[in-house]
Amino acid sequence: MDVALARSWIIEVSAAVTEQADYLTQLDSAIGDADHGVNLKRGFTAAVAALEGADPKTVGDVLVKTGTTLVSKVGGAAGPLYGTAFRAIGKALPADSSTVDAAELGAALRAGLAAVQKLGAAVPGDKTIVDAYGPAVAAFEKAADDGLTAAARAAADAAAEGMRATTELHARKGRASYLGPRSVGHQDPGATSTWLIFQALADVTS
Ligand code: ADP
Ligand code: MG
Ligand code: MG
Repeated sequence: MDVALARSWIIEVSAAVTEQADYLTQLDSAIGDADHGVNLKRGFTAAVAALEGADPKTVGDVLVKTGTTLVSKVGGAAGPLYGTAFRAIGKALPADSSTVDAAELGAALRAGLAAVQKLGAAVPGDKTIVDAYGPAVAAFEKAADDGLTAAARAAADAAAEGMRATTELHARKGRASYLGPRSVGHQDPGATSTWLIFQALADVTS
């Protein structure tokens, strides 16, 4: 991955969350406060604008800038969580090279997951972002030897499976946890946007 591809990834995420904003908000209206699509559309639109006005030299710079913008522009749970994730991913990448390989990106994605779990204290099965992000990172790492395209495809497929599996889960973190057992039967909005983020990575690397 080079700087141009990293930019393309964020542009693709912005397009995807904008296209799916109503769907994400609809999922959030069932078990939250009906703002997840609006939140992410605003955040990633701002990230694309921030990148247009910047001259990042490394993939890490692109992702740190994305994360910083998300933290500053999006309230609620997902803005700080995704912002922290992108900042951690960017910071974990080599600062002395303008390109990164699949193994380096896999390790950075793993650092992003750790940052999300440190901030939000969610574990697998809590019906959150972690339930799509965790399987996606594991699949990415497993396929990293086959290259970025294969790793990103495997990660997107694993994220989709993790996302679908959230439907049967009882939420234990975030707003949905206020519903307790009534959260069962609804797919988690954050796990769904995590799938979109990995799907965008697979799309731009294929
Ligand atoms: P808010 O709930 O503040 O309105 P959003 O609607 O943008 O924020 O995001 C909701 C999503 O955030 C949830 O669907 C869930 O996936 C994710 N989430 C909430 N709390 C946590 C947490 N502690 N750790 C990981 N993800 C979380
Ligand atoms: Mg919400
Ligand atoms: Mg909210």
